[in-house]
Amino acid sequence: MNSLKTMYKELGVSEEVFDFCEKIAEDLTDRFAKIDETAEYNQLKVIQAMQKNKLSEAHFSPTTGYGYDDIGRDALEATYADIFHTEAALVRPAIQCGTHALAIALFGNLRPGDELLSPVGRPYDTLESVIGINPTPGSLAEYGVTYREVNLKEDYSFDYEGIKAAINEKTKLVTIQRSKGYATRPTFSVEQIGELISFIKGVKKDVIVMVDNCYGEFTERIEPTDVGADMAVGSLIKNPGGGLAPVGGYIAGTEKCIENASCRMTCPGLGREVGPTLGLNQAFFQGLFLSPTVTAGAIKGAIFAANIYEKLGFNVIPNSVEPRYDIIQAVSLNSPEALCAFCEGIQAAAPVDSFVKPEPSDMPGYTDQVIMAAGAFVQGSSIELSADGPLRPPYAVYFQGGLTWDHAKFGIMMSLQKMVEKGLVKLS
Ligand SMILES: *Cc1c(COP(=O)(O)O)cnc(C)c1O
Repeated sequence: MNSLKTMYKELGVSEEVFDFCEKIAEDLTDRFAKIDETAEYNQLKVIQAMQKNKLSEAHFSPTTGYGYDDIGRDALEATYADIFHTEAALVRPAIQCGTHALAIALFGNLRPGDELLSPVGRPYDTLESVIGINPTPGSLAEYGVTYREVNLKEDYSFDYEGIKAAINEKTKLVTIQRSKGYATRPTFSVEQIGELISFIKGVKKDVIVMVDNCYGEFTERIEPTDVGADMAVGSLIKNPGGGLAPVGGYIAGTEKCIENASCRMTCPGLGREVGPTLGLNQAFFQGLFLSPTVTAGAIKGAIFAANIYEKLGFNVIPNSVEPRYDIIQAVSLNSPEALCAFCEGIQAAAPVDSFVKPEPSDMPGYTDQVIMAAGAFVQGSSIELSADGPLRPPYAVYFQGGLTWDHAKFGIMMSLQKMVEKGLVKLS
């Protein structure tokens, strides 16, 4: 009666899909135990930082106006600095998203005549405008900051010779993106990033290294700032907000880099001293507290999907057995019908807007139509279960998130259910 199978059936998952998925989930037990261990370690790291900063109810009180003497904001930033093992941090609702945080870190620390280097190929799409790779009003290029990039080698390893040749007297800041984002290269481990940083600092000691840490937080026991990065930067509506932060971004780094960034975040002279938190501190702290387990649930969902779709013959990146350093999963579904069915399933399993059917549509900045599924409590939140993909071969869906493993599992089962119903895959 109240068996899992019956409950899933009531929600639209057939017995055939349930049995197929349940078998795969069972085989992942040992792997999931390792992920839980990482979450446990990071949970303790977060609690340790909160205790060290004597977090108390007083820190949750809202400030308004200038936000002078906001003790909650100061404690939050000190807590982030302790987790990332940095001298300082900025964690603010006034940082609108990950791109904004990255832009603040870059503009705050670069000056006219300086050069920015990406030694890992083209950065995330939205940074092209910030850097001025696409001519854009207000870009770094307009302020006389030049840009250079060195692509990864064909086997996705670092092109050390090329990187050495690209570093020159103007090179001031190096940006390294941890997650693959929407590229096809693998995501770098923190250890790999550490090797790259050592090499770069060996060539030029005083260069600033910034890591775009989006989607990577708490997937490992260490963060890029533990291996020499001067700044780690990310979004609070991804991993570290734990699904509870309704907005925000963070930069954790050296005192000097954070001071420079803060003068760009507000303005020279005001820096970190202003910034009302408007009652959001509790959500930021509580989301951070939940983040290690939320991130673990999202990684489990990604691995579960990789195993299901690889077994059915689809190309999955990362594959079913590779180690994970972020929460993103790509599946090449090979047809527009399968891509749409997948997204319909994710949407149908959502707690919010489950009754909506996602449709492909034109998007500004994209040449092909894009389909997106998201039924989130926070708009655009990608730590919540979401999926999207452009309607072009190989019809790859990129998906990530799930505030709980159980929801991620249900969403993926529904994606398969829709594909089975439409005759796009056969389970036996
Ligand atoms: C999400 C993301 C960003 C920033 O995106 P926002 O939508 O502005 O938060 C930057 N880099 C990577 C790798 C990302 O995944």
